[in-house]
Amino acid sequence: MKAFYADEQKRHDPKAFLSSGAPLPNPEQPERVERLLAGAKAAGCAIERPQDFGLGPIAAIHTPEYLDFLEHIFGRWRRIEGASEEVIPNIHPIARGGTYPASAVGQAGYHMADTACPISAETFDSACWSAWSAVAAADAVLAGELSAYALCRPPGHHAFTDVAGGFCFLNNSAIAAQRLRRSAARVAILDVDLHHGNGTQGIFYGRADVLTVSIHADPVRFYPFFWGHADERGEGAGLGYNLNLPLQRKSGDGAFLEAMDVALRRIRAFAPDALVVALGLDAFEGDPFGGLSVTTPGFSKIGAAIRTLGLPTTIVQEGGYLCDALGDNLTAFLTGFGG
Ligand SMILES: [Zn+2]
Repeated sequence: MKAFYADEQKRHDPKAFLSSGAPLPNPEQPERVERLLAGAKAAGCAIERPQDFGLGPIAAIHTPEYLDFLEHIFGRWRRIEGASEEVIPNIHPIARGGTYPASAVGQAGYHMADTACPISAETFDSACWSAWSAVAAADAVLAGELSAYALCRPPGHHAFTDVAGGFCFLNNSAIAAQRLRRSAARVAILDVDLHHGNGTQGIFYGRADVLTVSIHADPVRFYPFFWGHADERGEGAGLGYNLNLPLQRKSGDGAFLEAMDVALRRIRAFAPDALVVALGLDAFEGDPFGGLSVTTPGFSKIGAAIRTLGLPTTIVQEGGYLCDALGDNLTAFLTGFGG
């Protein structure tokens, strides 16, 4: 399978992270790239560098105001006397829709959902290359490849049209899906990350041309808390085109694969022309987040199940954090899918 990745994606190197209020090292480390590259190569992937696609395919999902913020906020932030080394918000609007703030601190709170996505000098460039890897993989599928893998890092599925969150800045899976719409009338996104794909859901919530399905740890006591519940089904023209399948904490392969059956049935009924898999590997039993208990052979079964759809498939890397099996879990998924 063709795979896409650019070294610029490694430069974003976030330091800070608050977990239940306690400062910890940020888990979304550049080292993830090395593990995932090794895993993709072990599955037989040939790694290619994506081209610079410019802002066009990114602006098809994200607002001009937000892209301008991501590009320039670090320089503006550093001009504030005594400001932190990374951009981290400390105030948020209770409801959006009021005055758009002019100040850097106000805009950080407006465009950042939480403290997990600090912005440094390298962040915007890394995020653009991550998105371009997704675009390149979608283009490979549009050009006739049965499947392609995008090693997207930083990840994307918690990013909304104009909000960063949960280690994510640009929604790579959504950008890939929108790119596929060039020739696919209907696209399905299946998100198997441990965490609900709230940004992806939000982006397509009112649309019937992109079906969003997410299997994840029940958000009743887990990030992202405010989204991912079973009664969120879409709105307006998009009503019925969002499916959330929350699982009890520590659910293993059996429960995950049962949810996969439900997800695949919904996708078949939708009859899409193309599929995007938002591939988080943090549902793993040994992942530091410890939310679900999928095994390495379990990822192989998940890949094999998705392959039965027989759809042109763009696989976009989402979460999956540093643990000994991170690369093996990617190899297992890609091998199960059929290389
Ligand atoms: Zn995740």
